[in-house]
Amino acid sequence: MIPFDFAYFRPDSAAEAVSLYQELARSGMEPVYYGGGSELLTMARVGNRRFGAVIDIKAIPDCTAIGEEGERFYFGSAVSLGAIERSGLFPLLGRTGARIADHTMQQRITLGGNLAGTIRYRECVLPLLLADAGMTVFTNDGAQSVSIHQIFSGRLDLPTGALLTGCSVSREFARARHGHVKKTKNEKIDYPIATVCALETDGYLRFAVSGVHENPFRDMALEEILNDTRTVPRLRADKIVEELRPGAVSDVYGSSEYRLFAFKRAIMEIFAMEREGAMV
Ligand SMILES: Cc1cc2nc3c(=O)[nH]c(=O)nc-3n(C[C@H](O)[C@H](O)[C@H](O)COP(=O)(O)OP(=O)(O)OC[C@H]3O[C@@H](n4cnc5c(N)ncnc54)[C@H](O)[C@@H]3O)c2cc1C
Repeated sequence: MIPFDFAYFRPDSAAEAVSLYQELARSGMEPVYYGGGSELLTMARVGNRRFGAVIDIKAIPDCTAIGEEGERFYFGSAVSLGAIERSGLFPLLGRTGARIADHTMQQRITLGGNLAGTIRYRECVLPLLLADAGMTVFTNDGAQSVSIHQIFSGRLDLPTGALLTGCSVSREFARARHGHVKKTKNEKIDYPIATVCALETDGYLRFAVSGVHENPFRDMALEEILNDTRTVPRLRADKIVEELRPGAVSDVYGSSEYRLFAFKRAIMEIFAMEREGAMV
């Protein structure tokens, strides 16, 4: 049971949602945008989060759309991880979402909720960072398109009250050869000890990581090391591990050493996939 009352709104445009947010905030209602609601409701039930109003974004066409837009593929922020996988539009994003929580939750968790939520892994950002995704953010000034690299640095940095309506990636990146390796502690369905997503463009491997540091990231300097074919793959992996050692997380799920060990295994699997032509 949620131990407090809150008002529920379901606007049918992004403009209405954003102006409603401002109005509710001004009257002290502490509004929140509501995607799948799984994080908001779980945190509210255990007393970790309070809000006076929820603004459900699932009737906003810009947030629920998914499909082709010329040479790009668009994913609305209220689209579920399950729907993204079924669409087959961006297989790396589909595969990443298909390893978050269980199949039932994947029909509920939204792309925007995964990116904007407080649970630190935010694995769906990995393919978007690799594909240099464009993000559409709606504020009082209307819709703005920005690069993911401008608004994501470990976490999504949106102005207060801004609504992420969706994101898009080019067909070229969406269809590029890729690999996904998620290492968990016990079960297939679990938070990541280390997740690595990789995407190949013109023979160059991009990669991004979740689970090892506090927040997910892509680091171009580490990509240079990964692609330095003057050194054998194992030594490249060792070098990247040393770079990642400062800041590696130790918590109840796994020590920093364990996370780095799992990360190295994941990177070696990516190398093996590349060598054996198993990146699809
Ligand atoms: C059982 C379980 C297992 C999980 N395992 C993993 C995992 O392995 N890896 C991983 O990365 N994550 C994992 N998660 C985290 C999950 O992806 C997040 O909790 C996510 O926030 C849930 O999405 P939602 O749509 O239900 O979010 P909601 O509860 O609707 O929202 C979460 C937050 O995001 C904000 N928000 C939502 N949409 C928008 C938007 N469009 N614009 C601006 N703000 C917005 C909300 O205001 C709220 O603050 C797991 C969660 C659960 C419940």
